[in-house]
Amino acid sequence: MIVIRPERLIDGTGSPAREGMAVVVEAERVTRVCRVAELGEVDPVARVIDAPGATLMPGMIDAHVHLAYDGSPRPLDYKLATLSDSYPALALQAVRHARDTLRAGITAVRDLNAPGGVVLALRDAIAAGHVDGPRVVACGQGLSVTGGHMDKGAWGDHVALRDLNAPCDGPEAFRQGVRAQVKRGADCIKINLCGGSSRDLSAPYKQEMTDAEVAAAIDEAHRLERHVAAHTSGGPSVTMAVRAGLDSVEHGHWIDQETADLMAERGTYYVPTLLVNERNYEIGRDALGGSDASWAWLDKAREDKWASLERVYRAGAPVVMGTDAGFMLPHGSMTAREVELLVHGGLSAMDAIVAATSTAARLLGIDAGLVQEGSIADLVLVPGDPSRDVRVLQDLDALRVWRAGREVVA
Ligand SMILES: [Zn+2]
Repeated sequence: MIVIRPERLIDGTGSPAREGMAVVVEAERVTRVCRVAELGEVDPVARVIDAPGATLMPGMIDAHVHLAYDGSPRPLDYKLATLSDSYPALALQAVRHARDTLRAGITAVRDLNAPGGVVLALRDAIAAGHVDGPRVVACGQGLSVTGGHMDKGAWGDHVALRDLNAPCDGPEAFRQGVRAQVKRGADCIKINLCGGSSRDLSAPYKQEMTDAEVAAAIDEAHRLERHVAAHTSGGPSVTMAVRAGLDSVEHGHWIDQETADLMAERGTYYVPTLLVNERNYEIGRDALGGSDASWAWLDKAREDKWASLERVYRAGAPVVMGTDAGFMLPHGSMTAREVELLVHGGLSAMDAIVAATSTAARLLGIDAGLVQEGSIADLVLVPGDPSRDVRVLQDLDALRVWRAGREVVA
């Protein structure tokens, strides 16, 4: 039994922080949340953690990661790694990424594409207790049209790749693609709806999948009780996909008012991944390369993403924290910066915390993201008050983290 007495408690529901509370953890669950004065006699074998000045809150959830990729600032490095390293080698590297993620206070993640079954195996190894890591919800491989966002022809056409990605063409092929990922153990489905950069900056989004392919993929996934996340840029294709029942819009730097309203009406989640776009500028064009056209597109995304977030947030659609960690972003160490960017984009600090806890848990379909009696004891103890300044979450050395009631040791 552990009894934690922090200065204040944030329960993940969005209610204001409460002072003078005690939280009792037994085995993997929170069994009691009460005022310190009501605690009564504490079991003499209980471990009591008094944390004046600190805040106890639910562990954070990153709804968009790639645990198989190493977060190298140069995207070509991870592409090469997926060719030079075997899938077992990538899985073992992913163990390290999972540990780094957990130590940063991220107690659950959703992985949205990995080679082979690498992250599905990692998820199971973590669940079985073989290795430490956050709880993982994984899509297996993202589905993409031939030559699409996740099936880029970066290699000579004599190169044959096995089980690296999942190209599908036509509605029936997407249905089959969904079934294949579910067969190998996917918890959710990722589709690549839009392509990356577009030359026409008046409409900076390219639809890659046909409407019929989108409808088929979503219909099949829902029939198999899996939610669907889509890599998107924005524009009419997102409106169409939301109408077809898409569950989460990833990136989506160009969301118009009609789509924002539709997302609010249908409860479609928005995972704006603000940090990964900014990372292009932190790493810089010298290191990244890229054409004038692709940088013009990135510039426009960098500018327009704030207004899209504001529209979706104001419309009342659920916003969720997700980073794209693994892709130009290391695992764990920068994740809380995404929470800061959500605040920069207009969310209140508490709403940004909710986006990174209970709303994310709802999207992932997991029992997490709350500190209430009966909830899973995924907890973070952070010095200071993140409901006043979310940047305290970036002080990783000062965090204490519990995953299912067990403290994570550095
Ligand atoms: Zn991604």
